[in-house]
Amino acid sequence: MKLADNLLKKFGDTLNVNVNLSNYSWFNLGGNAEYFFKANNKEQLLEFLAEIKKRNLKLTILGAGSNTLFRDNGVSGAVIKLGKDFSYIKLLKKDVIDAGAATLDRQIANFAKDNNLKNLEFLSCIPGSVGGGIVMNSGCYNNDISKVLLSIKAIDINNLKEIEINRDDIKFLYRGTDLAENLIIISAKLKGLIGNKAEIEKKQSDLIERKKLSQPSQIKTCGSTFKNLSEEKKAWMLIKQAGCEQFTEGDASISHKHCNFFVNNGNATARDIENLIKKVKQKVFEKTGVNLELEIKIIGE
Ligand SMILES: Cc1cc2nc3c(=O)[nH]c(=O)nc-3n(C[C@H](O)[C@H](O)[C@H](O)COP(=O)(O)OP(=O)(O)OC[C@H]3O[C@@H](n4cnc5c(N)ncnc54)[C@H](O)[C@@H]3O)c2cc1C
Repeated sequence: MKLADNLLKKFGDTLNVNVNLSNYSWFNLGGNAEYFFKANNKEQLLEFLAEIKKRNLKLTILGAGSNTLFRDNGVSGAVIKLGKDFSYIKLLKKDVIDAGAATLDRQIANFAKDNNLKNLEFLSCIPGSVGGGIVMNSGCYNNDISKVLLSIKAIDINNLKEIEINRDDIKFLYRGTDLAENLIIISAKLKGLIGNKAEIEKKQSDLIERKKLSQPSQIKTCGSTFKNLSEEKKAWMLIKQAGCEQFTEGDASISHKHCNFFVNNGNATARDIENLIKKVKQKVFEKTGVNLELEIKIIGE
C-alpha cells in the first residue's frame, strides 16, 4: 500500500491529498498541499503529528491564511489547519480570556466587548486567527498581541508534549517573536481591562472605520507585504517615494489605497506576486538604500 493510502485509511476525512491551497490564503493563490490535515481536536493532532514524525514529512501550520502566500507549485509534506475544538473563547476570570488558537481575532474583540473588557478592540481590525496573530505579533493603532497576551499553550512537535509558555518568556519583535518553529500554538490567555461597554463599542467601530478609510477591503491580498521600519519610516512611504505605486506583474498590482498592500486582481499567479515583491524591493533599495523586509510569509516550492 502506498504512503498516501495508509495515511488516508488511518485518518479518514480529516486528511486529504493534493488539496488546492488557494482556498486557504487571502491571496487566493497557490498550488496543492501534498497532505492537508484538519485537526478537529488535540488527540487527532497528536496522532497525526506522531505519524508524520515517523515518516519524516515536512510540516506547515496554517492559521487563517491572511498573511501567507503559497507558491504555485504547492507545498510538500503536510499542511495542518486547526479545526473546531481549537476555535473557542471563554472567560477564565473577569478580565482574562482563554481562546483556542484557531479563533479569529475579531471574534475575540467581540467577546471582549460583550464582557466589558477594553484594550482588545484592535483585534477587530486583524483578519487572522489568534495563533497566527501571536506568531506575527500582529497589531495596529499602537497596540499588538504582546501587550495583551498572558501565556500560550503549545504542542512541541519534537516530543509531542504540551507546554505552557508565559508571555515574559517570549521575546516579541515587530511582527514576529522568538518562538521556536517546532511549536504549534493551541490556545492563548489574553488579558483585557475592565471597561465600559458603550465606550468599548465606540472605540471598536472607530478603529474599524479608520481602517476602512486607510486600507482597501474586498480584495485578494495579505495586508502589508513589507514590515515598517519605524513609525516615521513606513514601508508604504518608501514604496511611494521610490515611485513603485503603478508597478504590475501579470495580474498582480499594488493597491491604490495602500501601496504596501499587493493584490491578486483575479488572474495573478503566486509567481506574479513574488516577482512584484522582488521588483519593488529592488527599486526601493536603489532609490532609498533601504532593504525592505517581508512581513508576509511565502511558503512552498
Ligand atoms: C486586509 C488585511 C489587513 C491586515 N491588517 C493587519 C494589521 O492591521 N496588523 C497586522 O499585524 N497584520 C495585519 N494583516 C496580516 C494578518 O492578518 C496577520 O498577520 C494575522 O495575525 C495572521 O494570522 P493568520 O491566522 O491569518 O496567520 P497565517 O497567515 O495563517 O500564518 C501566519 C504565520 O503564523 C503561523 N501560524 C499560524 N497559526 C499558528 C499556530 N496555531 N501555531 C504556530 N504557528 C502558527 C504560520 O505558520 C505562519 O508562519 C492584515 C491582513 C489582511 C489580509
